[in-house]
Amino acid sequence: MDTANDKPRLVLIGNGMAGMRTVEELLKLTPDMYDITVFGAEPWGNYNRIMLSPVLASEKTVDEIMLNDDAWYAERGITLHKGRRIERIDRVNRRVIAEDGTEAPYDRLLLATGSDPVMIPVPGHELEGVVAFRDIHDVDAMLAASRAHQHAVVIGGGLLGLEAANGLMRQGMEVTVVHLMDHLMERQLDAEAAGMLRGSLEERGMRFRMAHQTEAILGEDRVTGVRFTDGSEVEADLVVMAVGIRPNTALAESAGLHCERGVVVNDTMQTYDPSIYAVGECVQHRGATYGLVAPLWEQAKVCANHLAEYGIGRYEGSMTSTKLKVTGIDLFSAGDFTGDETTEDLVFKDAARGVYKRLVLKDNRIQGAVLYGDTLDGSWYFQLMRDGTPVADIRENLLFGQAHIGDSGHGDEASRVAAMPDNAEICGCNGVCKGEIVQAISEHKLFTLEDVRAHTKASNSCGSCTGLVESLLATTLGGDYSDAPAKKPVCACTDHSHDEVRAAITRDGLKTMDAVFEALDWKTPNGCHVCRPALNYYLLAAWPKDYQDDAQSRFINERAHGNIQKDGTYSVVPRIWGGVTTPAELRAIAEVAERYQVPTVKFTGGQRIDLLGVKKADLPAMWRDLGDAGFVSGHAYGKALRTVKTCVGSEWCRFGTQDSTGLGIQLERMSWGSWTPHKFKMAVSGCPRNCAEATIKDLGVVCVDSGYELHVGGNGGVKVRATDFLCKVETEAEVLEYAGAFMQFYREDARYLERTAPWIERVGLTRVKERLVDDAENRAALYARFLESQEVAQVDPWAERAAGHAAHEFIPITPVDAPPRQGVSA
Ligand SMILES: Cc1cc2nc3c(=O)[nH]c(=O)nc-3n(C[C@H](O)[C@H](O)[C@H](O)COP(=O)(O)OP(=O)(O)OC[C@H]3O[C@@H](n4cnc5c(N)ncnc54)[C@H](O)[C@@H]3O)c2cc1C
Ligand code: SF4
Repeated sequence: MDTANDKPRLVLIGNGMAGMRTVEELLKLTPDMYDITVFGAEPWGNYNRIMLSPVLASEKTVDEIMLNDDAWYAERGITLHKGRRIERIDRVNRRVIAEDGTEAPYDRLLLATGSDPVMIPVPGHELEGVVAFRDIHDVDAMLAASRAHQHAVVIGGGLLGLEAANGLMRQGMEVTVVHLMDHLMERQLDAEAAGMLRGSLEERGMRFRMAHQTEAILGEDRVTGVRFTDGSEVEADLVVMAVGIRPNTALAESAGLHCERGVVVNDTMQTYDPSIYAVGECVQHRGATYGLVAPLWEQAKVCANHLAEYGIGRYEGSMTSTKLKVTGIDLFSAGDFTGDETTEDLVFKDAARGVYKRLVLKDNRIQGAVLYGDTLDGSWYFQLMRDGTPVADIRENLLFGQAHIGDSGHGDEASRVAAMPDNAEICGCNGVCKGEIVQAISEHKLFTLEDVRAHTKASNSCGSCTGLVESLLATTLGGDYSDAPAKKPVCACTDHSHDEVRAAITRDGLKTMDAVFEALDWKTPNGCHVCRPALNYYLLAAWPKDYQDDAQSRFINERAHGNIQKDGTYSVVPRIWGGVTTPAELRAIAEVAERYQVPTVKFTGGQRIDLLGVKKADLPAMWRDLGDAGFVSGHAYGKALRTVKTCVGSEWCRFGTQDSTGLGIQLERMSWGSWTPHKFKMAVSGCPRNCAEATIKDLGVVCVDSGYELHVGGNGGVKVRATDFLCKVETEAEVLEYAGAFMQFYREDARYLERTAPWIERVGLTRVKERLVDDAENRAALYARFLESQEVAQVDPWAERAAGHAAHEFIPITPVDAPPRQGVSA
């Protein structure tokens, strides 16, 4: 590694999508670590190969699909050798040698040589006018042929073949698609959807020869036609072969690297030679090769991580989905839709509207999806499939899409965003308009939700506009939009996801934040404002009796145990159990309010009294006085149990069936003080008239004549969500057990800052029922763990602060007068 500047040398072979994505990811992690040299066989810069289809259809120009131009490489000090194919890798002396003799030594080598198109070796396949569809040369050749000739034949009725055929038709050619099978895109579509697709393409003028095998390509110098094994022939001045791709392994094989169908790599993207990594279509990982970009991006991230010597992150394979980039044809497919006796089909067909949807379910989970004509919900089905979410409870409405399962924020977004003007506000939290987002996507070549968040801040706060931003990505990028990566790290300090961090904390007995940082190779020494609060919560939830809460890892409201208001004052909410108070308590609150000159006293939405406008410095004394009157903190500031709202129930109300007030008090006494991933609210209504609005709470109880209905996962916030019905129980003791067990399950399973509503949508109500209702033993164990952690959790933070704990937090900052300047008399 002795370069002039002593940096290790990284050489990339293949200036394509996967290789350069890896370099980009690497530069994000460590911009100066390597001296980087890139060799690309193609004479152009790095371009977006998947946009060749829109270029062929004249919907984009070559300039518009360039990802990184020469200046980009120069600005980052990367040496780029365009149009130089590497012919040999000398692994002994660690150098690569190009066709023209150019050499470059390496310390680490990255192979990203992509694929070669398969050319069927029938007689005539080398004639002029026979091309593949892989690079800019091929597109140029097709465009030139379309200007001089009339008849095109595309061999292959898969994704690529149909995109080529569509492009050529858009250039005015008469196009015949030849396909070996009797339905199109047989690996992505079932016969029904394939038939509809063929119908709409035929309406546009495309011709088909289905179940036809090519025997020979005819012509002397230039192609004139194609003959099939049944003896029939079709006229052709241009033949495009789009029958598949083969990983480009020749160079790796000649260097002695182990290759099967592709260059074999492990989960860190390393080949059998530890100094050589490989990514992209040339790679074979756990037996699989890929021909779409989404997996390559996941590979690129992992590979960059290892090149940057962080040593964490594994690639575990990808699930892929397919869209066809033919304007006006909406088609989506993902997973395995073949089906057998162990699977069930949900099918919707509206032939008049040209809409077909088929979901294949196995064990109550989506295993495959084919959508034609209405693909709006494709990414949602894909997400459910990837997360393995049980769908039994939403089965009735599943085919009608996400908009029909009570998720009011996500209805028909694609068409909604398409119709919006550029100045329409998409992200209210950060004031970002549609035009800004679309421009950022196009200008900065953004592909993922994370990219858009980083560049525009849209969808970075409350998240309720996430669906809209995703639709904008999908409509702006067309086919090359890939959904957010399956695995999302907690923050930039780590590549581990929330779930992985939680699992490691319990599995490896990690009981301090430093232990987590060390065991999981955190990239920053002390974490950041995003990961610290999450870790603090996970450690508290896992080790309630061993872990010491870290105040510095809490947001200001939780540190100060009061809500900070817009003028910098705080609001104080004493706990009033079940919303029931006494004249003595009211008097005490009134006296405190007067003593500390509280300007506003207000009832909260959860039936509690809010003392607003308190100076931070007054908080400890006020808490002491409230404590003396018997109050504890209402945790109105915390990611914790907030309130249990109640109605008057059977004690006072004509309709009340049970003592909803008393039950609410019991619930609040049991669960106050517990920290949860996000705020947690409960309510108890005395009858189905539901005056306590129990069906929009995280846990709601509705009393009925024969017992208690339990409801979960409601939310009255920005995105209103009605609860799901969990089960019915008969006694108050059971209500307490189920409530404690539900809270504990949420505490142990949800990600930090995930409320119960999105959590249940992600994991599925079925799973919650399986663990809580069907499995009594598990429910009892969860309840026991909840009660055990409550033994130490029910400490009033106000009392601690009133006794002087963390006093520095409440000492006002006094401005220090600047000393007089030297030589200037006062
Ligand atoms: C027309 C078309 C449409 C597509 N549409 C989609 C789509 O809608 N969605 C989707 O997900 N995917 C699509 N794909 C697939 C996607 O483009 C590929 O999966 C992706 O480009 C593969 O990236 P890669 O880096 O592995 O290979 P490439 O992007 O092909 O890059 C490999 C590079 O290595 C170079 N190279 C090879 N050997 C050498 C050597 N010895 N020395 C130097 N350089 C070398 C090649 O010239 C090439 O530039 C499409 C592909 C095509 C062709
Ligand atoms: S929910 Fe029923 S019991 Fe409770 S106050 Fe309303 S009507 Fe009365």
